[in-house]
Amino acid sequence: MCRERVRAEQAIIAIDGPAGAGKSTVAQELSRRLRLRYLDTGAMYRALTLKALRVHLDLDDERGLAGMARSTEIASGYEAGGKPPYRVLMDGEDVTAAIRSREVSVHVSQVSSHSAVRKEMVRKQRLLAGKGGVVVEGRDVGTVVFPHAHLKFFLTASTAERARRRYREMKEEGYDVSLKTVQQEMVRRDRLDRTRKVNPLRRAPDALLVDTTGMSASQVVDRLLRLARSRLAG
Ligand code: C5P
Repeated sequence: MCRERVRAEQAIIAIDGPAGAGKSTVAQELSRRLRLRYLDTGAMYRALTLKALRVHLDLDDERGLAGMARSTEIASGYEAGGKPPYRVLMDGEDVTAAIRSREVSVHVSQVSSHSAVRKEMVRKQRLLAGKGGVVVEGRDVGTVVFPHAHLKFFLTASTAERARRRYREMKEEGYDVSLKTVQQEMVRRDRLDRTRKVNPLRRAPDALLVDTTGMSASQVVDRLLRLARSRLAG
């Protein structure tokens, strides 16, 4: 982690952790409160997975997937004026909802396990983060994408609570799934993310660990804001 105190508008804040730890809700709110941009790196892997599934590309075809990653334009951000929702565009198409499908969730870890795919995604992510002033969420943001981020958080929560959160989200999105299935799929995805050879999900040694079990999103945001304000200048 970079020890130099910078102003929030130049800072890179990295938020990593497993599925259902509360990263998206918290990262979005933190970016809003600190008036920073927000970058969801998971959405980028999801967009590539969606495209690969649509054209029936073999998800073990590393070269094919890396080529597709290079030729795919992925853009994301809030509407004009910085208002939610956060939208994700793939080659100009709004795929915000499509990338959250269960099919994408089930296959995304396979796509993101390939070294050549990750290399291209990390390149894109560094370009998108530009000169800073951004909250970036993912799995390897604090370890690989921005090892010198000004502030790093690693969010976690118990497996049961993470599964309940994902289950509630999926119900709201209209999926007819059981809590048990959601938990099984989530545990499988986490295992793949933690055990892959390249850039696995892990806590950077200098990331602040926040266990969000039993905490509301606003409690987590308050805690992160306090930590951010104590470590960033002005
Ligand atoms: O954050 P989200 O759950 O949407 O991420 C979807 C998947 O994308 C993860 O399960 C992981 O396989 C992959 N991912 C990754 N590296 C990141 C962000 C996400 O490998 N920085």
